[in-house]
Amino acid sequence: MIETMKDESVFLNARILIVDDQQPNVDLLEGFLEMQGYSEVKSITDSRDVFRLFESFKPDLILLDLAMPYFTGYEIMDKLKPMIDPNTFLPILVLSANISVEAKQKALSEGASDFLSKPFDLTEVGLRIRNLLYARSLHIQLADQNQQLEERVRERTQELQKLAEDLLAAKNKAEASDRLKSSFLQTISHEIRTPMNGILGFASLLSSPDLTETEKFEFISLMEVSADRLINTITDYVDISMINSDNLETSYQRINVKKLIYEIENKYTNACKNKHLSFNLHLPSDLTEFELITDQNFLRSILSHLLANAIKFTKTGSIDLGYTVEPSVVTFFVTDTGIGIDEELQKKIFENFIQGDDSITRIFEGSGLGLSICQGFVKKLDGTIEIKSALGKGSTFSFKLPIYTDIPV
Ligand code: ADP
Repeated sequence: MIETMKDESVFLNARILIVDDQQPNVDLLEGFLEMQGYSEVKSITDSRDVFRLFESFKPDLILLDLAMPYFTGYEIMDKLKPMIDPNTFLPILVLSANISVEAKQKALSEGASDFLSKPFDLTEVGLRIRNLLYARSLHIQLADQNQQLEERVRERTQELQKLAEDLLAAKNKAEASDRLKSSFLQTISHEIRTPMNGILGFASLLSSPDLTETEKFEFISLMEVSADRLINTITDYVDISMINSDNLETSYQRINVKKLIYEIENKYTNACKNKHLSFNLHLPSDLTEFELITDQNFLRSILSHLLANAIKFTKTGSIDLGYTVEPSVVTFFVTDTGIGIDEELQKKIFENFIQGDDSITRIFEGSGLGLSICQGFVKKLDGTIEIKSALGKGSTFSFKLPIYTDIPV
């Protein structure tokens, strides 16, 4: 392949292919090119060999006769077209005894770069060859530059795309944090003031002198309910801000899953009884002592949020809690026969502060953070969470956690 420099000596390395059925013509051209200093010259007199040689020799220039047995020069140009790299310029200099204007025009229109009539002037042949090789070198140079340019454009486009993605991510983050702040301000009045009012209201009632012991107990237990709600709300805010600021720290330990499930069952049995919901556990019977390496607090919190929601959004029927174990994954699930969740809400249900009913008069209490916290914790434990739900029929929330053999570092 010739180089892309202007220095004439570099053309002498160009590969030149002579195609002419007349041996004396070939000898004359070979001798001339050798004298000129061209070192890479090949020739053929049988036009059928041209395609094979073209592939192996990869010429920089072809000197082509027109009238030949088997394939004419026109046919050769036609068959070579698909074999020539369209991004480079391969000069074909036609040397023909046919000096008619039509022959010239036909050759030039069918792919020849230049045309010389036989008998030719060797000096002119030399100059035309040199010019054509120079044109080819310029084409190669241009193609190289184009390629470099395209490469730079590609790189720049990638950089810009990355920048745009980063900007979008930053914008989304800023918007999310903005939403978090404004939602916080909105819900703070509801989810903090409501239990606060309860606590303060019953506290003032407790100071009234003519209360019976039973009334005092009743007021104190109602104060405890409000205090629990307040603590849960504050814990949710702390958890979600730890998740959003990427400050969660995991504390892996080997835990007895059944024990944790019984502990949670204990916590929610009363709530189910109060609503006349049956509460069913589904634990694999062959794995009595199944131990899982995980963060117990995260797992307890996820299951508690899912159960609290299941109970909150179910009027009649049942709540099911269980898990299944595969070789490397454990799947926990909470199923209810409650109000269900429509498809639109399902798509965004794991976002912060998303609630099915976000009106001021909504009947269900809650910060709208429970499911985002679940997702944040599940992700932190390298798991995945999903929802299957049908409006009016109920929902199943399930999450998968990896089963580790050793405490992850
Ligand atoms: P919160 O329960 O505090 O509103 P969550 O993030 O836990 O917030 O839940 C978001 C919303 O998803 C709820 O407001 C409710 O509309 C819907 N949801 C969650 N769990 C259930 C469920 N088991 N059944 C029906 N709807 C649910």
